[in-house]
Amino acid sequence: MSSSNTCDVAIIGGGLAGLTAGHLLNLAGIDVQLFEAGSKLGGRIQSLGHAPAGAAIADHGDLGPTWVWPPYQQAVSKWIRKLDLSLFEQYETGNAVLDMQMDGPPGYQPLPGQHGMARIVGGPQAFVNAMAAGINDDKIHLGHELSQVSENGDGFVLEFANPPNPPNPPNPPNLPDWSANRIIYAAPLRVLAERVNWNGVLDDTVLRLMRATPTWMAAQAKVVMLYEHAFWREAGLSGRVASQVGPLVEIHDHTNFDGTQAALFGFVGWPAEHRQKEKLEPAIRAQLVRCFGAEAANINEIHIQDWATKTNICSPLDLAGPAEHPQALPELMAGAFSKNRIAFAVAETASQHPGLIDGALEAGERAALLMSNQRAATVAT
Ligand SMILES: Cc1cc2nc3c(=O)[nH]c(=O)nc-3n(C[C@H](O)[C@H](O)[C@H](O)COP(=O)(O)OP(=O)(O)OC[C@H]3O[C@@H](n4cnc5c(N)ncnc54)[C@H](O)[C@@H]3O)c2cc1C
Repeated sequence: MSSSNTCDVAIIGGGLAGLTAGHLLNLAGIDVQLFEAGSKLGGRIQSLGHAPAGAAIADHGDLGPTWVWPPYQQAVSKWIRKLDLSLFEQYETGNAVLDMQMDGPPGYQPLPGQHGMARIVGGPQAFVNAMAAGINDDKIHLGHELSQVSENGDGFVLEFANPPNPPNPPNPPNLPDWSANRIIYAAPLRVLAERVNWNGVLDDTVLRLMRATPTWMAAQAKVVMLYEHAFWREAGLSGRVASQVGPLVEIHDHTNFDGTQAALFGFVGWPAEHRQKEKLEPAIRAQLVRCFGAEAANINEIHIQDWATKTNICSPLDLAGPAEHPQALPELMAGAFSKNRIAFAVAETASQHPGLIDGALEAGERAALLMSNQRAATVAT
């Protein structure tokens, strides 16, 4: 191990929780390094990769989360203010489509939206970009999947594997080990429990709890359709569909805040093993025509994001069981472990809204605080 590869706090996972922790620890002047298995930051938050020419942020669609509920979510509303982000309403004007039979006409009726539900200008990606901007580039290591951790005196040695999708520019084939005094685990708990060789660093009680915690939406697939214009709005439709015949069980208007990119998105109801693109895409096109008429066939782009295929998000345990909303975990997971050298930060460990964006912000902040206090305590003694 090269002695230059050392840090005070290593963060495992570059989703919103890990980035929030990194942002805060960096601000506190703590020597932090962030390791992300994927080729880009954001984890479950991913926007469509292209921005309109000259636009500061990609605003073409969310392949992961879309909504926040600021009146009910303290961490979200605080960070929206702090990072100077803007909100806009989910479009719900007009009738929704009730898609209940394959070969009959759909029904139409208004469906109420959820109180307090909002979208973020630039999508949740705007959170990711703003948090990442607070961490120096040379402290962020993409394409670094933690594969093994072991104790080494007062600290830890971390070993990394190169994942199948390399970042740009690619990493060298053999990634160096790192040593860290303390670690924040900001990655899905089941994935960590199953894919990392722990060498006794975490005990069986903790590993059992990690395996028992579903990763919210990990086995979902989301589809974004881009259109030239929002023709459904002109026909007095909200863009919302409730379907019992699918393949999209829910569809929503997904046009961006200033209306420059018309879009719909839907959640796929088919089980993961039946979601081959060559079957799914024609079935989606047929459903859109059934619900919205012939104009719905004129899709400019269709993007299918199947989270069930992402091994750093979705574990075989998530695929085996029903989709369950994570429950608040016992206090144990919110504390620091192993003589205050380990903390967890993924959204599922939050006390409020576990599994959601709000949970990721809360958990990242809590882990950063645990590590900052720990340093303050060490300095004081
Ligand atoms: C389709 C979909 C729709 C959703 N809709 C909403 C919504 O509307 N509103 C809402 O509030 N929430 C929603 N969510 C949930 C929301 O996306 C998550 O709560 C949030 O993004 C979690 O952030 P996180 O940082 O805690 O975890 P993640 O985003 O899962 O980040 C964890 C990171 O850890 C990395 N990682 C894993 N293993 C390793 C390893 N061994 N080494 C290094 N890195 C590793 C992963 O690659 C990943 O980048 C949705 C999720 C999905 C998938």
